[in-house]
Amino acid sequence: MSAIELQECPQCDGTGWVTTQGGGEVERCDCFRNARSGRRLERAGIPRRYQHCSLDNFETEFLNADPSLGGAVMKCQRFVEGFADLDEGLLFVGPVGVGKTHLAVGVLRALMDTHKVNGLFVDYRDLLRDIQDSYNKVSETSELQVVRPLLNADVLLLDELGARRPSAWVFDTVSHVVNDRYNNRRPTLITTNYPDAPEAPEGPLDSAKGGVGASLQDRIGGRLRSRLFEMCIPVQLQGSDFRRVMKRAGYR
Ligand SMILES: [Zn+2]
Repeated sequence: MSAIELQECPQCDGTGWVTTQGGGEVERCDCFRNARSGRRLERAGIPRRYQHCSLDNFETEFLNADPSLGGAVMKCQRFVEGFADLDEGLLFVGPVGVGKTHLAVGVLRALMDTHKVNGLFVDYRDLLRDIQDSYNKVSETSELQVVRPLLNADVLLLDELGARRPSAWVFDTVSHVVNDRYNNRRPTLITTNYPDAPEAPEGPLDSAKGGVGASLQDRIGGRLRSRLFEMCIPVQLQGSDFRRVMKRAGYR
């Protein structure tokens, strides 16, 4: 793909290099840069339904829009601007359909565009399945093959954290990924539908709530929850399910 693009480029006649304005020196042609950022985007594995998502096209001014949405976008923009000086990620918390994944993808893409990082989008449920499958005797992939890209990505987007409860040993692998990224100061963007419920005054929340399983801590355990808050800036979104509202109003 890129080879064809380069060949057809009238600026550089397919060499990928152009002479600078003042002359005398050469630099990479735009076509080369575009092809490279296109490949970076492809490798990021963003699902088709989210590929259009950016911080600029996140809607905050529709009827009855919750004010938390505008605040969340601003937080994301500041995060992208200050990214070079940060080693934290973002933890998007809010109910289904308010746009957490849209914003997280918007941040990931902005970082890939402006800071040239290698980004990776991973759905938590797919990750659990892939880890589980890697333990299968006839599996073609090893656990390391599944996990390595997640450890190496400059910025990892882990979507829908807590959406499913894994077995203890699969969860160990997830914890390893998160802790390794923390130790290596690689930022992680996380979305979750599970609210960070207030701590029970005494004893672990799990027992206090009788195992209802509705808070983030119930879903991923207290230790991992604490780690997430050490390594991520929380972004709280509120509001009714945007997609459902649109449907009811007769759009789409
Ligand atoms: Zn060119």
